[in-house]
Amino acid sequence: MSEEEIKELPGVGPATAEKLMDSGYKDLMAIAVESPRVLADVAEIGEATAGKIINAAKKAADIGGFETGDQVLQKRKEIGKLSTGAESFDDLLGGGIETRSITEFYGEFGSGKTQLAHQLAVNATQPIDQGGLEGEVVIIDTENSFRPERIIQIAEDDDIDPEEVLPKIHIARAFNTHHQMLLADKALEMGEDSPIKLLIVDSLTSHFRAEYVGRGALAERQQTLNKHLHKLLKFADRHNAAIIVTNQVTSNPDQFFGDPTKPIGGNILGHTATFRIYLRKSKGNKRIARLVDSPNMPEGEAVIRIEEGGVKG
Ligand code: ADP
Ligand code: MG
Repeated sequence: MSEEEIKELPGVGPATAEKLMDSGYKDLMAIAVESPRVLADVAEIGEATAGKIINAAKKAADIGGFETGDQVLQKRKEIGKLSTGAESFDDLLGGGIETRSITEFYGEFGSGKTQLAHQLAVNATQPIDQGGLEGEVVIIDTENSFRPERIIQIAEDDDIDPEEVLPKIHIARAFNTHHQMLLADKALEMGEDSPIKLLIVDSLTSHFRAEYVGRGALAERQQTLNKHLHKLLKFADRHNAAIIVTNQVTSNPDQFFGDPTKPIGGNILGHTATFRIYLRKSKGNKRIARLVDSPNMPEGEAVIRIEEGGVKG
């Protein structure tokens, strides 16, 4: 459908259309918001032609308009809330993790990010009146930390049949940033056929961190990460799904942004994630979840425990 639309733009021949599609410009909006210089570069055409194509795409794309407050309120009512399984944590979040948003868990190694991801994957498959999203789950796993055994333990502890849960969780390992981004595209396609209500990227930043090393690579890393995040937002919006990304805090002061309690990913992630939750270790299996940034909830903390049966309040 969108490929046809792109081909119909004045100035776009089959070769240009193919180059655009291959470079990830898969709908009119992607072209409409691009700059002539970048588009010219990507499609190997002149800047003037690129400018004309962009203008045509702007006219043809549904840019959208302004909505009134009551329309926005109506839309807010469609937003789902995914329970964490821990009441105090849900309260901190205003009822749970929201759909149509990106929620970021950040914290040092062992702070519980992956355990929370497993718990939320189980919860998302559950009925809405039980704090779930009645849907399926996609996990993009960059650190090989997904364990079906944990899903079984967590489900059984909540009296849920693991055999009903496991087929609803789709996992893919991502081997590098490029692969990670392609998997996000794939998820977007899968979402057209399956009711995917939760997309987890665990970890969002580990490959970015490994591949883009040093100050010189910073700008490019942030740009690529930005593109990735916007794809995730698109998924959230199109499928009314929750997006959860994990992020590690760095303990190497000169590698990224200095402060060891700051998540990596810089401003781009900071501005795109709607909810940011800082996890830190406490005594034994206790963890403290701190809501750091939210559009409508005050900052605050909740204490959770990580047990064999999952995340508990
Ligand atoms: P990260 O933030 O690095 O992703 P994890 O989510 O993997 O951290 O959390 C690791 C913690 O989870 C460890 O402290 C570990 O003890 C705990 N954990 C992992 N599996 C189990 C289990 N089966 N039972 C109890 N605790 C577990
Ligand atoms: Mg982890």
